[in-house]
Amino acid sequence: TGIPVAIVGEPNVGKSTLLNALLQEERAIVSDIAGTTRDTIEDEMVIGGIGFRFIDTAGIRETKDVVESIGIQRTFEKIDKAQVVIYLFDCETVKKSLHGDTGPNGRTLNTIMTEIGKIKNKYPQKHLVIIANKIDVLSEEELAKVSAQIPEALHLSARSGEGVDKLQDKLLEFI
Ligand code: GDP
Ligand code: MG
Repeated sequence: TGIPVAIVGEPNVGKSTLLNALLQEERAIVSDIAGTTRDTIEDEMVIGGIGFRFIDTAGIRETKDVVESIGIQRTFEKIDKAQVVIYLFDCETVKKSLHGDTGPNGRTLNTIMTEIGKIKNKYPQKHLVIIANKIDVLSEEELAKVSAQIPEALHLSARSGEGVDKLQDKLLEFI
């Protein structure tokens, strides 16, 4: 019944941790729906008086290309129904990339930027929130490079909860 919000991104970027962080901050959970699919978790919660239904799309796995992978039918349907798509990327991968290394599946800052472009093209009609998660692993200098390359990204640490309030504000802006 709440406004559907799909949380997408590669494995291990922190999608489930973010869902938990949102739940801890907002205790007004109205229901806890077991996913209709093996890997999808949905939780309803109220933020600023507005009901949201967060869909943790754990179905995106074992693929190099997030946009290809969201073609996985059930995840695709979830995203299709969502009004808001939250796309997370992992600052651990960014950090490696900035130091000439790569993250899982050879991912780099460039890969992430390409994926963001693809998601924008694929879902032009949806509200999109880009999240740089795990900012706790970056120095200020490294974080400044993220801002330079992906200026629209919200800086967040799902683990510490830093930035979760900014995400909530952003969601309310869409209403
Ligand atoms: P998912 O596969 O996208 O759902 O990712 P998870 O939520 O399961 O998190 C994957 C790993 O990243 C776990 O070990 C988390 O503890 C870790 N993690 C998640 N958020 C953060 C964060 O903000 N900072 C750090 N350093 N680690 C995080
Ligand atoms: Mg998960």
